[in-house]
This record gives sequence, structure tokens and C-alpha cells, in this order.
Amino acid sequence: MNMNPSKLAMVPFVSVANMMKLVHSIGLETFLKDVATEIEADFARWEMFDKTPRLGSHSDVGVIELMPTSDGEFYGFKYVNGHPKNMAEGLQTVTAFGLLADVYSGYPVMLSEMTVLTALRTAAMSAVATKHLAAPNATTMAMIGNGAQSEFQCLAQKAVNGITHIRLYDTDPAATAKCMANLAGHGLDVTPCKSPQEAIEGADIITTATADKDMQTILTDNMVGAGVHINAIGGDCPGKTELHRDIVARSTVFVEYPPQTRIEGEIQQMDPDHPVVELWEVITGKAKGRQSAGEVTLFDGVGFAIEDFSALRYVHNAIKGTPFFDDLDMIADPDDPRDLFGMLQRAKG
Ligand code: NAD
Repeated sequence: MNMNPSKLAMVPFVSVANMMKLVHSIGLETFLKDVATEIEADFARWEMFDKTPRLGSHSDVGVIELMPTSDGEFYGFKYVNGHPKNMAEGLQTVTAFGLLADVYSGYPVMLSEMTVLTALRTAAMSAVATKHLAAPNATTMAMIGNGAQSEFQCLAQKAVNGITHIRLYDTDPAATAKCMANLAGHGLDVTPCKSPQEAIEGADIITTATADKDMQTILTDNMVGAGVHINAIGGDCPGKTELHRDIVARSTVFVEYPPQTRIEGEIQQMDPDHPVVELWEVITGKAKGRQSAGEVTLFDGVGFAIEDFSALRYVHNAIKGTPFFDDLDMIADPDDPRDLFGMLQRAKG
């Protein structure tokens, strides 16, 4: 993109408050559907992107990650953390912000909050995977883990796949009560459940979004019936999984970017060459999705940079002509590009 230099000095910044205004002005379900469409379109041109597993800095209590990608026109990255212990301290498990830049000039074109946007794009991603992998007549989803991501996951499934019934379970009943209350009035039939077994009864889709920096077994093999589609999105870094390995062994496993998922996903429990299907190949028709009614399909979702890129580019377009951003003076802009020092001198006053 060859842009007028004077236009590049101020960088639009989308704060949390403005992101929320933007979402409401577009409509939450429309926003989720639109981001799902963007992700699907970007997965369909997968080969055009620079791809690398995200760069994680791990500590005993969590991880801080950078997630970059580029399609040759724009470059984007997200800063994101994952700290399961945060919730008990009154903090978010996941917070994020991201930047979109113009590849031609190298200048940033937008800085944005991404804590809300990550929940939206993660939900949109699960909905895209479900659209391509679940049984076509699916109506009911079990939502295991009723924390920050959960309502977004439920509403994206309604908006994109027409899911009508939700069965909730969380080890903390207060989380389920919060999710029930938040989903009221959104046109979903929601049932709180006392165990994961009860939650997955009659469910065509199971989504797990639990947080624990550990190898958990939220689901064991005997719990999962034939024909179910699972979105396992909570296991997203080394040493953090949600499913018993027997479920993974029995399922057809679909992933975003294998070099990252093999380190971070449910398949970290399996042999390094455990067979997986890349979701972008299903979307483009290069590979098959669900092949029989009885097959268990597993989207081993860890969250990949292209999903953030799709969401950032969507927001970058959506804020045009709206008041939902502030101009951020974050790029030094001397009148003579070589006179950076002179600009500093003159600012002395
Ligand atoms: P959160 O802390 O707000 O909620 C997690 C919930 O899981 C809590 O309510 C907790 O009580 C519940 N839980 C913990 N162990 C459980 C168990 N054994 N059974 C049932 N419930 C259990 O976290 P969040 O922001 O909702 O994120 C959930 C997970 O999703 C995190 O692990 C996060 O890292 C991950 N995540 C993944 C992606 C992705 O792209 N794949 C994106 C965002 C978040």
C-alpha cells in the first residue's frame, strides 16, 4: 500500500471502550459472523501468508506470546498472555493487544486492544471449524469451561451454525451462573449441568475452554459418543491439555498450523507424526472434512496468527468513518526525514 506520508504519522488506536462501541454498533452476532467470514477467506489463501509458530516466553505461572504474520500487503502481530492463576486474583486469564502495519512503508496503520477481539476471533474460529466438521444437522453444544471465552463461543455457534441449545458445565458453579445470566435474552436455550457427563448428553458439538496450566482430562474417552464434533480450545501451550489421549487417538484431528499445534495442542500428547488434517485444506477442498456420520472430529484449536490478522484487518476497515478510534502520536514525523535530531531540539521550547 503506497500511502501519503502525512497520513501515516497518526496511528488509529482502538481502545477497549471503542472496541465495545464498535461491536455494539455493528451488532455482536453480525460482528462474529463477519470475523468468521474473514478468517475463512484468509484460510482459503493460506499459502500467501508468512507463517511461524508463535514465540512464547514461559514462566511457572503462565506464558507471554508474540504472534506475527503477513500477507505481503499488511503485517500484523498480537501480544497475548495466558495466566490461569490470574482469575483467582481478579485478573483476566488472557489479555492482548495487536498492531497492523503497511508492508510497503513499514508504518503501523492501527494499534488495537485485543482482549475482547481475541474472544471474538477465537469464537469465530471455533464456529468456522464447526461449520466444516460437525454433523450438518447439529443443534446442541456442550460448553465446558464457562469463563471469559464461553459466551462468545456460544453466540458464534448460534450466529454461524444456527446452534439453538447450549449445555453448560464448569467446576465453579458461579461461572456457569454468570454464563447463564449473560446468555439470557440472546435466543439460546441454555441448560446448566452438574457434571461434564450431564453436559455432553445429547450434544452434537462439545467445546472445551477451561484454563489450567496442566495436563487435564476434562473429557475421557468413554464420555464421547460417535459422530460428535469437539472444539478443544483451552489447551493452547506446552504442558496444557484438556482431553484424554484416547479421545485424540480415536478422533480425526484438524489443526490450524501443525508446527505450532504439535507443541501446544492436544496432539502434544501423541507421537510427533500423529496424523492431522490442516483446516485450510478442508476449507479449500484439498482435504476432506467429516467423512462419516459416526466419525469423531476434533478441532485442536490453539489460536494462530492469521486469525488475529483477519480480525485486525476487519476492525481496520470497520472503524473507517466512525468515531471509534483515537489518533495516536506514536510515529516520529520530522519534516525532513533525516532531521530526527533537529525535531527533538526544536521540541525543547
Ligand atoms: P477463564 O479463566 O476466564 O475461564 C476458564 C474457566 O474454566 C473457569 O471458569 C474455570 O472454573 C473453568 N475450569 C477450570 N478447570 C475446569 C475443569 N476441569 N472442568 C470445567 N471447567 C473448568 O479463561 P478463558 O479466558 O475463558 O480461557 C479459557 C481457556 O481458553 C484458557 O486456557 C485460554 O488460554 C484458552 N484460550 C484459547 C484460545 C485459542 O485461540 N485456542 C484463545 C483464547 C483463550
